[in-house]
Amino acid sequence: MSLSFNQIFMNLATDLAQKSHCVKNHVGAVLTKDTRIISIGYNGPPAGTHNCDEEWPEEGCPRDSKNSCSLALHAEENAILYAVKNGAQIQGSTLYTTLSPCIACARLVYASGIKQVYYKYSYAEYKGLVCDEGVDFLNKFGVSCEKLQED
Ligand SMILES: [Zn+2]
Ligand SMILES: [Zn+2]
Repeated sequence: MSLSFNQIFMNLATDLAQKSHCVKNHVGAVLTKDTRIISIGYNGPPAGTHNCDEEWPEEGCPRDSKNSCSLALHAEENAILYAVKNGAQIQGSTLYTTLSPCIACARLVYASGIKQVYYKYSYAEYKGLVCDEGVDFLNKFGVSCEKLQED
């Protein structure tokens, strides 16, 4: 049985997450259009700064006020930034991410014209929050954002 494109892209996002140098959480993202990949990303500090696992192997990344890595761009941010820098047309694209978008990424996803988001794990569950505000934001404003069911 062949995999669906949804599953292929989510599998790739899952593999990409392993490239992350952040100590706490590894997240991967794939940006596609018409079943073709236009960008990829995983969470991590911008090139030329630090790799958290090399800089702080024991204590982990320095935390921000929400207990997230204070240096890293999120996987979605990195995927969108790369597409922008390389002139890819993000309008109407589909994003696959291993962790549902945080509210800041949700705003960026919405503003960049992405039309559909599939995620594997819930950000709220990971953070112990009561609701997935990023998911709610996207669905409220017309971007379909749903958990991808396994084939
Ligand atoms: Zn980090
Ligand atoms: Zn985010």
